[in-house]
Amino acid sequence: MKKRVAIIGAGPSGLAQLRAFQSAKEKGAEIPEIVCFEKQSNWGGLWNYTWRTGVDENGEPVHGSMYRYLWSNGPKEGLEFADYSFEEHFGRQIASYPPRAVMFDYIEGRVKKAGVRKWIRFSSVIRWVDYDAATDKFTVTVHDMQDDRVYKEEFDWVIVASGHFSTPNTPYFPGFENFNGRIVHAHDFRDAREFKDKDLLLIGTSYSSEDIGSQCWKYGARSITVSYRTEPMGFKWPSNWQEVPLLERVDGRTAYFKDGTSREIDAIILCTGYKHYFPFLPDDLRLKTANRLATNDLYKGVVYVHNPKLLYVGMQDQWFTFNMFDAQAWYARDVIMGRIEVPTDKSVLLADVVERVEREEADDDVKYAIKYQGDYVKELIALTDYPSFDVDGACEAFYEWKQHKKDDIMGFRNHSYRSVITGTMAPAHHTPWKDALDDSLQAYLKN
Ligand SMILES: Cc1cc2nc3c(=O)[nH]c(=O)nc-3n(C[C@H](O)[C@H](O)[C@H](O)COP(=O)(O)OP(=O)(O)OC[C@H]3O[C@@H](n4cnc5c(N)ncnc54)[C@H](O)[C@@H]3O)c2cc1C
Repeated sequence: MKKRVAIIGAGPSGLAQLRAFQSAKEKGAEIPEIVCFEKQSNWGGLWNYTWRTGVDENGEPVHGSMYRYLWSNGPKEGLEFADYSFEEHFGRQIASYPPRAVMFDYIEGRVKKAGVRKWIRFSSVIRWVDYDAATDKFTVTVHDMQDDRVYKEEFDWVIVASGHFSTPNTPYFPGFENFNGRIVHAHDFRDAREFKDKDLLLIGTSYSSEDIGSQCWKYGARSITVSYRTEPMGFKWPSNWQEVPLLERVDGRTAYFKDGTSREIDAIILCTGYKHYFPFLPDDLRLKTANRLATNDLYKGVVYVHNPKLLYVGMQDQWFTFNMFDAQAWYARDVIMGRIEVPTDKSVLLADVVERVEREEADDDVKYAIKYQGDYVKELIALTDYPSFDVDGACEAFYEWKQHKKDDIMGFRNHSYRSVITGTMAPAHHTPWKDALDDSLQAYLKN
């Protein structure tokens, strides 16, 4: 009997996993039976844009956290697939910070070429996963939303690739229940034009805060105030953008901050991060971790130490994204196919996690963190046949990107970088980011 593998999620991580198995098959290997379950009606994960907020068409929590006008927040040269370059997909090199639709097209291009759509069951929500030690098998409970049917199937391996930027972390501040304006978490933010001519308060200093604030500024918000807990982001912001200490309370439309200042605001956007949330997993299988580079309980960042037949892809905080998911997916594939042996002694698995955590915590410098994750990508790539690429070169692109942001936060997306896959320099985009209001694929790709 062929072994069976369940993959949960068809976002970039799940798709990397499908491509990993297909690439082994293409090279003549016998692969297990693969079934990928995706709760949305299409692939792409977060990159599959939805206008919906709250619940989706099936009454399930909306997965999408992306918004209109979202452009890649890091250079595409840091995430390029080693086996499918941007040039291969678009027939030429393109500028370095593509909008969401362009990125979606690129992600989709590789898996269309690989022909793996047939392995995915769409509109299929994983409700529960159980492991039976006696049979050494998982029972997966699925809700097929198209036929409105709940069923169970058995698998030998389960790979969780359900993402971790979907379940919002929503702190409470006194007065929120009586605030005379809109309060929304970044997860539900969809269109900056909603906030044109408004005075906005953003809470948090994450990427969401920086980017949603920038979008709202670009599309005509009157003012942006960002409230920070520990320290400001410290970029050279436009004149109508200010950073203030933590919010203490709101009253009517007035926000009061820790330093005794206050201001009138029209809306509050909580850019306060996300939770790793797996409602379909019991305690003994559920990853419990903070959003960090070295997650808890994952040997090599992939294999669940408490049950090594359960694997997780894409659970780390991310400098590297698509190519790191690839490195993990190729590794997971080779563990499942018996090409890589995972130690059977649990203390060895746990020691690997401890070492990664200690190394991450040894320095809080940003460059160190980028290199740390780059080294992780290299470590995994060296163990499989994923095409090797210049990971240090990708790190260099990230370092430059960081500097470009320091120099000009509203202009960093106008820069270009060299592909570490093809060696070609990206052209400058035809329009500076702040003036490019149309985020469509057609607008981006026009010469
Ligand atoms: C606002 C925002 C902007 C970002 N911008 C960038 C960027 O510019 N560049 C970049 O590289 N990265 C960016 N990211 C990071 C992003 O995490 C990755 O690019 C990527 O989408 C992660 O892929 P994933 O497959 O791990 O998770 P996801 O993309 O979240 O995909 C997970 C999939 O699992 C499915 N799923 C979840 N639960 C179930 C279930 N119970 N049953 C069945 N299916 C399920 C979901 O529907 C989804 O399709 C951004 C993230 C956010 C939130």
